[in-house]
Amino acid sequence: KPVTTDMKTLTEEIGKFAQDKKIEIDTLKIREEYRKDFLGNVSHELKTPLFTVQGYILTLLDGAIKDKKVRDKYLERANKGVERLIYIVKDLDLITKLESGNLNLQQEEFDIIELVQNVFDLLEMRAAKMEISLTFDMDYEPIFVVGDKEKIQQVLTNLLVNSIKYGHKNGTTEVSIENLVQNKIIVRVTDNGEGIPKQHIPRLFERFYRVDQSGSRKEGGSGLGLSIVKHIIEAHGEKIYVESEEDVGSEFSFTLEKTSNNEEISIEESKLV
Ligand code: ADP
Repeated sequence: KPVTTDMKTLTEEIGKFAQDKKIEIDTLKIREEYRKDFLGNVSHELKTPLFTVQGYILTLLDGAIKDKKVRDKYLERANKGVERLIYIVKDLDLITKLESGNLNLQQEEFDIIELVQNVFDLLEMRAAKMEISLTFDMDYEPIFVVGDKEKIQQVLTNLLVNSIKYGHKNGTTEVSIENLVQNKIIVRVTDNGEGIPKQHIPRLFERFYRVDQSGSRKEGGSGLGLSIVKHIIEAHGEKIYVESEEDVGSEFSFTLEKTSNNEEISIEESKLV
C-alpha cells in the first residue's frame, strides 16, 4: 500500500513538474510574441515619418533646392517629420521604462489647479488653431495633491492633446476636479468631439492601439499616449476611467491623492465660522 501511495505522489510530482515547465515555456512564448509584436509596431511607427523626411530630402537633392521658396517649404516639412520622430522615440523610451518598472516617481506636493493652468497655457495656441476652447470649471483655490508633478503634467497634456486632436471645430474641452471619499480627488477631461465607438473602448489603453487603423491618422501622436497615461496613473496607485459615445464626446478621468495640507486649511476655515 505505501508503495502505491509513493507511486501516486511521484506521479503527482512529475505531473506538477511538467505543468510548471509548461507554464514556464508558455510564459516565455508569450514574452517572445510580445517582444516581436512590440518591435513590429515600433518599426511600423518609425517608417512613415522616416520615408516622409527622406522624400523631402531626395526632392531637394533632385533640384528643388535651387528654388528658395520650395527649399524653405520642404526643409520646414522635413523638420516636422524629424520632430515627430523625436516624439515617438521619447514616448518609446518612456513606455519601456514604465513597462519594466524602471521609472522612479519623484513624489512631491503640488497644486493641481496651478498645474492644469500651466498645461492650458502651453496648449492654448494648439487649441486655438483647431478652434477648440479649453475651459476650467474651478475656483482658483489651490488643491494640494501628492505625486510626480512632471508625470502628472504629461498625463494632463496627453489627455488634452487628444481632446484637441479628436475634437470638432468650435468644440470645447473642459477640465473639472471633484472631491471623492478618502482624501481623493478625481480630475475629469471632458470633450464634445468625435467620441469613440463602444467596441474600441476596452482596448484604448493598449500601446499602439488606435480606433482609426487606416493610417490616415490625425497629426502627430505615436499611439502610445493613452498607454503612457495609464501606466503613470497606475504607478501612482491611482485609477483611470473612460466614458465615451460616438459623435457625442469623451470623458477621461483619473484619481489623485490630496495631501493633509488641504485638511488643515479646511479645518481652520471651519473653526473661523
Ligand atoms: P494616438 O497617438 O493615436 O492619439 P493614444 O494612445 O493617445 O494614441 O489614443 C489611442 C486612440 O484613442 C486614438 O487613436 C483615438 O482613436 C482614441 N482617442 C483618444 N482620445 C480620444 C478622444 N478624446 N476622443 C476621441 N478618440 C480618442
